[in-house]
Amino acid sequence: MALNIILLGPPGAGKGTQAARLVEEAGMVQLSTGDMLRAAVKAGTPIGLQAKAVMESGALVSDEIVNALIDENLAALSPDQGVIFDGYPRTAGQAESLDGLLAGHGRKLDRVIELAVDEDALVDRITGRFSCAQCSTPYHDRYNRPEVGGVCDLCGSNEFKRRPDDNEETVRTRMAEYRAKTAPILPLYDTRGLVARVDGMAPIEEVGAAIDRILAG
Ligand code: ADP
Ligand code: ADP
Repeated sequence: MALNIILLGPPGAGKGTQAARLVEEAGMVQLSTGDMLRAAVKAGTPIGLQAKAVMESGALVSDEIVNALIDENLAALSPDQGVIFDGYPRTAGQAESLDGLLAGHGRKLDRVIELAVDEDALVDRITGRFSCAQCSTPYHDRYNRPEVGGVCDLCGSNEFKRRPDDNEETVRTRMAEYRAKTAPILPLYDTRGLVARVDGMAPIEEVGAAIDRILAG
């Protein structure tokens, strides 16, 4: 049975990094609303035009927009594909919608993995973040460098990119949004017995091993 899991944690917690690893090693599908929205901005679609300024400010895009993106992406999957939700849900409204969306596609939520991190480390993680311009593999200036400098480990590209919202000022707003709107979702999932907590301050490989143990159990 294909697993449906949420990776939950503040910006910079390591959600994208761990999701990319699960895609690579476990063949799961990563549904990142941040990636979907950035693609819409780049393509200049109506959603992208609406979302651009909101994302640059660090505020949240409307529930209607992200719920519709998730619905559309779930519809494109085959039932045997496991899903990692990365950066979604981010509000109680989105969490409620997700249950309905999953049911509509014959799925149910199996696990919510909380990446618990020290807030002081997040600015450093986010301002040092970059990714491959071709295949989006995530890296960090100090904590996760490509094996050969300037060459993507996965696809060999020499081009990398940084996000416009990965600056200190926007990060502060994003963290405030997380505390106010996203953290309150955790107790809701906890009462359903779905939450497993992982120490997101451990090195990347250790966080990955802890997640694997949870998914295997
Ligand atoms: P999120 O998707 O939760 O915003 P990312 O996975 O993009 O976070 O991680 C943010 C940055 O921190 C990236 O540059 C990544 O390489 C780095 N990083 C991720 N996990 C760890 C970790 N456990 N220790 C140190 N750096 C990490
Ligand atoms: P990070 O993991 O570093 O916080 P994301 O790539 O998940 O960043 O999100 C980047 C931005 O996209 C957010 O600051 C927000 O503006 C928007 N966004 C992404 N996912 C959602 C969501 N589920 N609900 C509302 N806004 C979202």
